[in-house]
Amino acid sequence: MSFLALSEIKKSFGPVQVVHNFNMAIEKGEFVSFLGPSGCGKTTILRMIAGFETPSGGTIRINGVDQTTLKPNQRNIGMVFQAYALFPNMTVYENVAFGLKVAGMARADIDRRVKEMLALIHLEHLAERYPYQMSGGQQQRVALARALAVKPQVLLLDEPLSALDAKIRVSLREEIRLIQQQLGITTVFVTHDQEEALSISDRIVVMNAGRADQIGTPSDIYNRPATRFVASFVGTLNLIEATVEDPQANRIRIGEHAIQIRDSLAQSRGGDKVAVALRPEAASLQATARTDTALPGEVVASSFLGSVVRTRLNVGGNTISFDMFNDPGLTPLAAGEKVTLHFAARDLLVIRD
Ligand code: ATP
Repeated sequence: MSFLALSEIKKSFGPVQVVHNFNMAIEKGEFVSFLGPSGCGKTTILRMIAGFETPSGGTIRINGVDQTTLKPNQRNIGMVFQAYALFPNMTVYENVAFGLKVAGMARADIDRRVKEMLALIHLEHLAERYPYQMSGGQQQRVALARALAVKPQVLLLDEPLSALDAKIRVSLREEIRLIQQQLGITTVFVTHDQEEALSISDRIVVMNAGRADQIGTPSDIYNRPATRFVASFVGTLNLIEATVEDPQANRIRIGEHAIQIRDSLAQSRGGDKVAVALRPEAASLQATARTDTALPGEVVASSFLGSVVRTRLNVGGNTISFDMFNDPGLTPLAAGEKVTLHFAARDLLVIRD
């Protein structure tokens, strides 16, 4: 049996339905991210798990127990928000102790637990500080310690990293993942940042207008996107418009070029339009031992990004983007330059939606 079960969850605000029949079974100890653009319903699902919103239909169970109509404080859930919601007039120690005091724990036990939590986030030395005396990253670590102190059954993280600057964001997400694995706590994380979701999750739910377009491991989501939306939102995947020429022979046409692909076209008919995806790392301007297909293209733009030069080509009306590793001898290509794009036909994936 799954640990956190969301069954047929719906949510409407007035006449507007923002979550449509959402189903998911989350295992104990799993780290699941909800990824999607602003307004897709990911925060609403998190808030329903927390009990801040009531579903318009469906049930939420934790460990077999129906939570759907329980109040937030009856659910034993820990939550960390985007803005550091620490109590400003309490020290770090008092912030972490707060939930334990409310629960009526004995003072000596509170002391032991708070010290354990501060050790977990490596902030023992800041126990007497107030929130305003700490950086944003430190405050979020305290918020995490406070949420975990009460030993919640589920940890909910609502864009906890988005107010931090890029470097801290990466180190704190690694720290969150380590702590989550160390404690084995079932965690649901909301983000609109695809790299964040790919790097931290056991599974990702890609949300699109109140529905899950795809639920899968980071590798599933990146390598095998189920829909155009997932492909374009998650990856820097290139989508190429093609026509099915012969479904039995797995042959498509891109412009004037007939290409035999490995991916199955069994569900298509001759003349159908399909989108095929090409990962940027599978494209190159030089033929290699792996490549077997070449298409003519024209440079749209080329930008120097430090470790790589990102190049965009127009290939028969499709924009193809890929990175070339920087080396001092590399001359960036000029817009309008004619080039040849090389790739392996077996790297083309058919997107079905
Ligand atoms: P963001 O990252 O911007 O928070 P999100 O994917 O988390 O986006 P939600 O906050 O879940 O999206 O919102 C989904 C939709 O529901 C949006 O169109 C939003 O305007 C609407 N919505 C959310 N809360 C309410 C509310 N209390 N009353 C009315 N509409 C709401």
